[in-house]
Parts: sequence; structure tokens; C-alpha cells
Amino acid sequence: MDDSYVRRSWVEVDLAIIKKNYDIYRNHLNDQTDIMAVVKADAYGHGDVEVALVLQNQGVKNFAVSNISEAIKLRKAGIGGQILILGYTPVDELDALVEYDITQTIISQEYAQLLIEKKASMKCQLALDTGMNRIGIDVENHSECEKIIRLCYSSLKLTGIFTHLCVADNQDFESDIFTKNQIKKFREICCMISDLQLPYRHYCNSAAGLWHNNDGNLVRLGIILYGLKPSYHNVLPTGIEPALKWKSVVSMVKTVYPGETIGYGRTYFVEKEMQIATIPTGYADGYNRLLSNKGEVLIRGKKAPIVGRICMDQFMVDVSNIPDVEIEEEVVLIGRSGNETITADEMAEMLETIGYEIVCDISKRVPRVYV
Ligand SMILES: *Cc1c(COP(=O)(O)O)cnc(C)c1O
Repeated sequence: MDDSYVRRSWVEVDLAIIKKNYDIYRNHLNDQTDIMAVVKADAYGHGDVEVALVLQNQGVKNFAVSNISEAIKLRKAGIGGQILILGYTPVDELDALVEYDITQTIISQEYAQLLIEKKASMKCQLALDTGMNRIGIDVENHSECEKIIRLCYSSLKLTGIFTHLCVADNQDFESDIFTKNQIKKFREICCMISDLQLPYRHYCNSAAGLWHNNDGNLVRLGIILYGLKPSYHNVLPTGIEPALKWKSVVSMVKTVYPGETIGYGRTYFVEKEMQIATIPTGYADGYNRLLSNKGEVLIRGKKAPIVGRICMDQFMVDVSNIPDVEIEEEVVLIGRSGNETITADEMAEMLETIGYEIVCDISKRVPRVYV
């Protein structure tokens, strides 16, 4: 392990786990389907270049990012193959897309028009909106949609079409019907343009690739690559596990007495003599302040509950049940310690959000260490 990082607050990413998650997921797909690794947002906080290079070595030839800066960063780091920008790029930047051979998503009819006016010459894929109402050409009017696709095909370097599913992670009856209907609409459009040479037709995210029939030739695999669940109620295939651990240390230990309070706003009242430890990680590191008086950390395989409010750079935990805690002892914020674990998914459930947000929020000042 790289030992040049400061042991204050750091993330350990196990790239072998990402590789294993990829292999397990891969085994669930048929041979006609390739994986497009979604490494946007710094690979969901795991480090985009590191993750992409490992997957490239595994044979992955398709990558997806959210914007042009992420795309260029990957190219410069030696990522070959297709790099698809899933969202908007200002038209001023089109030359850079050509220079770095980056594939741009055509996000709307207006955007298509702009690209055609500018005689844009980078590769493009066209997004179809089948019900998410975020980006894409509306598929409801079939003939209009077909017209736009054909126009893009003749005027731009169109290499594919795709759509995005918005409830593929929910397995209840109604969501299932909605997803199947989105897929049906996508297939109908595919049929109408089956004469065009479009190498890529795809609609699956992590969830859909596992739980829905896929006849696209790419699965855009994000969250499950990192070992997290699309929704906390999902059950992942055996062997898939989180690749990221978040650690910190104990910076101070002290005894507090009845009548005292802990932290900003005096939200924690000490009722009996207790030992508390200060942890040098805070909301500026992305440790969510809503965990105040609610979350837990692990020290020596035992749970230590958070007492008082999370500060910008520090917070306090109750270590009364862990004898003789010492400064510089390792603290697990996300990950395993002994027989206990805290997962990003559990933390997300506590915070009424999703694991994606927990890992994306770990800020840049927290070094990523690769093990
Ligand atoms: C982020 C994203 C994905 C990946 O979704 P996961 O749920 O992380 O697998 C796929 N497609 C698009 C368009 C996305 O924006």
C-alpha cells in the first residue's frame, strides 16, 4: 500500500474487488453484451483513472462519464476505446471532443440541430427519452423520432442510440410494468431504424442488466461495479462486495461528566460519566452532518455511537464500551472491523438517500489509497 498519505481521514479502494465485481456481473450477461463501465464523478468517488485502467486491463473497451473534463482526463491517462459523455457539453467545446476522440450524447432535438449547424465531426450517440424526462428525444411521436435519428445519421457521425430506465431497481409490479414499457418503446424505435449501421443500442444500467431482459449490446454498469446496491432493498449476486473503505483515527480521548454537553448547539447531554473520542473527519470531508447523534463508527471491532453534532473537520463518539482507546487508533467510518461492518448502503438508508450519494460525497481532500 502507498504510505505517502496522511493518516487523518482516507479512503482505501480495493481494485481487486472491483475486478471481481466486474467478473461476477459479466457472468450474468450473454456473450452478445459488452460492459460499458460508468466511471463518472471520479468513478463514484473511487478514482476514475485507477478504476478505468484496471478495467481496461480486464478487456473493457467502453467507458461512460458525465462531462468533457472527465472524458479528457481519462484519455490523457491512457484510456482507449469509446468514451461516451452521458450529458451536456457546451458547443464551444466540440473541437476538443474531436481532438480526443470522445463520443458525445445528443441530448435533445435542439442540440442535434446545433451540432449539425456547426458541422460537428466527433462521434455521437443519440439519447431517447422513454419516460425518465431528463434528456433525450421523445419517442412518443414515432415518425418524428425516426426522422431525427435519420437526420443525425446522415449529418453526424452517429454510432449508437440509447435510453435510460428510471425504476429498473424497483421490483414491485408497477415499476416492472413501467420498465418493460420503456424497453418496448426503445425496441420499437430500434426496429424502425434497423437498416442503419449503428454499432451500439443499449438501455440497461446496473439494475436492469441483472433483473430485466437485455437485448441491447451494452450494459452501462455503474454502482454494482463498486459493490453497492441500486436500492437498499436489492439483493446483489453472491460475491459482489463494496470496494471502498473509509477510515480515520482517534485524535483525542477524554472523560466527560453528568451535566456537561458535547459539541455545537449543546445537542448531546451527558447523563453519566463517559469516555469520548474525537475523530478528525467532518462534513468538509463529506461525512454527512445528518449523522449527528445518529451514526456510528467502528473501533477495534466495536460500535461507537456519534455524540453531538458533526463539525466541519471533526466529530465525537462514545467509546465508554471500548476500554483504553488510544490516540492514532484506526477508526472505520465505512467498512469492516472485526465482525462488525458499516456499509455505504446502510448509511444511506439511515440518511434516507442512496449509496451513490454517500460515496460520491467523500470529498477530494480525503486521499484515495489503492490496496
Ligand atoms: C449513471 C448512469 C448509469 C449507471 O447507473 P448505475 O445505476 O450506477 O449502474 C447508466 N446510464 C446512465 C445514462 C447514467 O447516467
